[in-house]
Amino acid sequence: MENGIANILHRGTIAVLAGTHTFDRGQRCFADGRVVEVEGVKGELHGKVRPAEAGRAAYVVRLWIRSEGLAYECTCPIGVERRFCKHTVAIALAHLERERADAERGLDVLREALVTIPAPAMIDGLLVLARRDAVMADALKRMCLDALSRS
Ligand SMILES: [Zn+2]
Repeated sequence: MENGIANILHRGTIAVLAGTHTFDRGQRCFADGRVVEVEGVKGELHGKVRPAEAGRAAYVVRLWIRSEGLAYECTCPIGVERRFCKHTVAIALAHLERERADAERGLDVLREALVTIPAPAMIDGLLVLARRDAVMADALKRMCLDALSRS
């Protein structure tokens, strides 16, 4: 289910739901480090956003999937009306950023493992992938052409 919300949550979707003005404010909110907590559990996203004014309680944000699409709520005055507020944008962006970082870490592990494969076995493996996937085959051909043009 975690993947469910990841499939729906894209920057573009968030921008459309929030509108440009709210999206920009949410982006600033995230960039300022005001997201203090974000957690994705079973198709739901929970998070807390520190208010700009000191002494106030953190805003509590929740995003989840309904059959009609994405649902959301926040404890701020805009969020309680079930409108997409800047805190919801900030939580969604924090989640996307964390997923991107996780994917990147996964690729780092893959890189370390790939280095251990001898070149002939690597070539055989890539050819198997290229046979299965035309896009992959084209990308490999481009890589070869790039390498040739540089040598
Ligand atoms: Zn809010």
